[in-house]
Amino acid sequence: MRVLTLEDSWELALRIHGLAEIGSSEFKSSSILIDLLRANGFAAESPYKGIPTSFRAEKRVGSGRPTVAFLAEYDALRGIGHACGHNLIASSTVSAAIRVSSSIKDGRVVVIGTPDEEGSGEWAGSKIVLAERGAFSDVDFVIMSHPGDRWAVAGQTLAVQDIEVTFHGVPAHSAANPQEGQSALDAAMLSYAALNMLRQHVRRDANVVMHGILREGGQASNVTPEKAVLVFGIRSSDLAYETALIERFQDIVKGCSLATGTTYDFKFIGPLFSTTRVNRTLSGYMRECLVQKGVDCPAVEETWSEMPLASTDFSNVSRILPSVSLQFQIAPKGTPWHSKQSLEAAKSSGARQPLSTTIDVMSEVAKKLFEDEAFRERVAQEFRSG
Ligand SMILES: [Zn+2]
Repeated sequence: MRVLTLEDSWELALRIHGLAEIGSSEFKSSSILIDLLRANGFAAESPYKGIPTSFRAEKRVGSGRPTVAFLAEYDALRGIGHACGHNLIASSTVSAAIRVSSSIKDGRVVVIGTPDEEGSGEWAGSKIVLAERGAFSDVDFVIMSHPGDRWAVAGQTLAVQDIEVTFHGVPAHSAANPQEGQSALDAAMLSYAALNMLRQHVRRDANVVMHGILREGGQASNVTPEKAVLVFGIRSSDLAYETALIERFQDIVKGCSLATGTTYDFKFIGPLFSTTRVNRTLSGYMRECLVQKGVDCPAVEETWSEMPLASTDFSNVSRILPSVSLQFQIAPKGTPWHSKQSLEAAKSSGARQPLSTTIDVMSEVAKKLFEDEAFRERVAQEFRSG
């Protein structure tokens, strides 16, 4: 057993980048991480909580308390690869966990492999499923990271629910006997238009985003469409309002189905991603560590109050435990994500130093949690007080 060098961590990141396994199918990536953790004295279990590409690895010293868990993501995006840089999440969190585990006097370092953050397959938003199945019940604190176009701690996120609506109509010859038909496409288009109208009447301060596609709209122009499928993502920075918007969308679908004489199935795709609950004490310390290394990282309050742009299943974890995530910069500000540029950035040599800093800082934050009981209590106290 030895602490990983930066070269080891970098090679690990490149290997996972090269594999580019999409969510719920990350078999090779997860086993590389498991093997590495086992070689470094961790006891590992996989599959974990019934999720094939999930795992849990832990190393315990003494009483096993506190327990600090690092979350590793390793899923790529369908069709493009590691354009979200999850290869660097895997490498940084596993490297930090191994480093910290070699120095603790009492406690437990855990790594939980959390597949399919991007929602590509059966285990979409696996952190939520893992949480529901008790994966965090014996964990005290959670640390993770995510690459991006800047350094930041304590970023807010949008709640999101993906929804699939299938309308069922009655087919008929479009010219000879259209009076016999009921168009599923009409129901879908009416719903699409009605949701557009709703945009004018939503709360401005709730950062509402509603984006959708018509996945299926019929087979032939001379047949009344029997089936039409809409897929929508509904997002908001206000969790309660998010629920209200979903209900509103349900009403729209119901009304449009009635108007067109069709029926429908309303299905949630994956679980509801929550908004993030920021722990200022934990985030503040992480930011302090970054600043001490000369990193230009905005104050926690500043990041926290910015308009949220994206969503993650990490948010749900942040609601059950004090959690912190470090966003590290691997590309110039303004670089579009899930793009060819971010795909390149996640394997370019410019990401090496940020990876190194991220491993250092996550290790320091974990070390503080293990060694400073008063700090631990302040973090927990803030979480308890809501
Ligand atoms: Zn991501």
